[in-house]
Amino acid sequence: MKIADKSRAVVRAGRPPEGALSRRGPDPVEEELYRLITEAIVTKQLRPGSKLKEATLAVQFSVSRARVRRVFQRLAELDFVEFRLNHGAQVRRPAPDEARAVFATRRLIEAEAVRTTAARASAADYARLRAFVKNENRAFETKDKGLAALASGFHILLGEMCGNPVLARILNQLVHQCVLIQSLYERDSQRTICLVHEHAEIVELMEAGKAKAAIAAMQHHLNHIEESLDYGRANQIDMRLAMSIG
Ligand SMILES: [Zn+2]
Ligand SMILES: [Zn+2]
Repeated sequence: MKIADKSRAVVRAGRPPEGALSRRGPDPVEEELYRLITEAIVTKQLRPGSKLKEATLAVQFSVSRARVRRVFQRLAELDFVEFRLNHGAQVRRPAPDEARAVFATRRLIEAEAVRTTAARASAADYARLRAFVKNENRAFETKDKGLAALASGFHILLGEMCGNPVLARILNQLVHQCVLIQSLYERDSQRTICLVHEHAEIVELMEAGKAKAAIAAMQHHLNHIEESLDYGRANQIDMRLAMSIG
């Protein structure tokens, strides 16, 4: 993983990462392309395995292929995109073993994020968390298609608040991996990615000083998400896709 990850909090679509001081200033076209691709993946318009055509994107967005490649590179730093020999860039398809490992790691890391954030969060931090959950609720009630991005954003925000930038960066990457994993393995019957009321419960417990219960609630929440997946599901699709792509 690259140290210079300016892409923190991208899931909170459009909003610039908090406190991110860009050294050379963001390039508007690259930012737009980056945001559009990320959003398309988060909202499942671009599925894992989809190819990203460098030449076509360069023409469509009137930029050089080198700049398109720079955007791909940033997406690759999030493990969102991978480069395959002779196949160019494509949206990654995490295998079931990797998916399980991602969840196992999230359970560890997010327990720590909850523990440390609960120990240091100010009243303003809690106000921000509550406001965030309120937005999620609104998105849930209005069936806003931005809900998936918001729900991921909750976890990223907790990571950012815990005061450990290394943890925040790793968690950001893991949350993005989970977007791909959910896109691949989610059961049709189980479309709700993140149960908003569980986010609210985690914040309430933290604010009440019940760190242990908050950690347990987070663990439950992550288990709940993983249980909504069916790791056997994508194998079949894989085969058919493989047959038709050749
Ligand atoms: Zn969640
Ligand atoms: Zn639950």
